[in-house]
Amino acid sequence: MRWTPGGRSKNLDDRRGRPLRGARGAGIGLGGMLLLLVLSVIFKQDFLSLVTTGGGVDMMPTASYDTAAYQASPDEERLVEFVSFVLDDAQAVWRDKFAGMGQSYQDAKLVLFRAGVQSACGFAETATGPFYCPGDEQIYIDLGFYDELAQRFGAPGDFAQAYVLAHEIGHHVQRRLGIEEQVRQAQRARPGAANQYSVLLELQADCFAGVWGHSTARRNILDPDDLEEGLGAAAAVGDDRIQRSATGRVNPETFTHGSSQQRMQWFQRGFQSGNPSACDTFAENR
Ligand SMILES: [Zn+2]
Repeated sequence: MRWTPGGRSKNLDDRRGRPLRGARGAGIGLGGMLLLLVLSVIFKQDFLSLVTTGGGVDMMPTASYDTAAYQASPDEERLVEFVSFVLDDAQAVWRDKFAGMGQSYQDAKLVLFRAGVQSACGFAETATGPFYCPGDEQIYIDLGFYDELAQRFGAPGDFAQAYVLAHEIGHHVQRRLGIEEQVRQAQRARPGAANQYSVLLELQADCFAGVWGHSTARRNILDPDDLEEGLGAAAAVGDDRIQRSATGRVNPETFTHGSSQQRMQWFQRGFQSGNPSACDTFAENR
């Protein structure tokens, strides 16, 4: 991609320097525990149970961060600027698209983390891979995933990296449009079809990533290999490819994201059309 390193996005929440230590309940630290104990005594209510039992824990800000500055390599710092660029560029495109539909777009935030992170969707580790949490409307990524994408998944290149982020932004678009909520309801109504619905939701996010790709192509900021890199990444994270490399077998019944072929197809559909309404993966399943 042709882009100019230009610092950090205002929607970036950098938590790399503050890795989470220990269990979630211990997240508030000793000082916090003591404070809750004091509050419990004063108000005669058990505030400690708020953090030591389930429920509210997921929503609590985690305070067990290491405040020491995180030392990133120059390569990683460049990556931070690149994801900042993609985040801002893609969200500007979606703001326009929403305006065209008479709707207002609200930015998602991007949380950078290392090792582990607390989100409204629960605790996540690096192995979870990049994800979008509808509960707090934030995207979470451990930049180390990009090494894995290039090496283990065999999908190198900056546009492969951009695709991953654009896909997560696609989930935010689904959230803002109310699609995500409809799908969750449909899944609750038909638990047997939950995986199928998940695949349709994921393929639509791929298509939405392509919609952004279309805009970058029109603005002439793609390199000749970029589309191929994006398609390579979409194929690399296909359920069939991942299952085959993990277990040697492929079981379409358990697909949650779609096959490599499907993921490439839908990304391409968005890329060619530039039109979100071309991304109705649910059309044939209504
Ligand atoms: Zn997804």
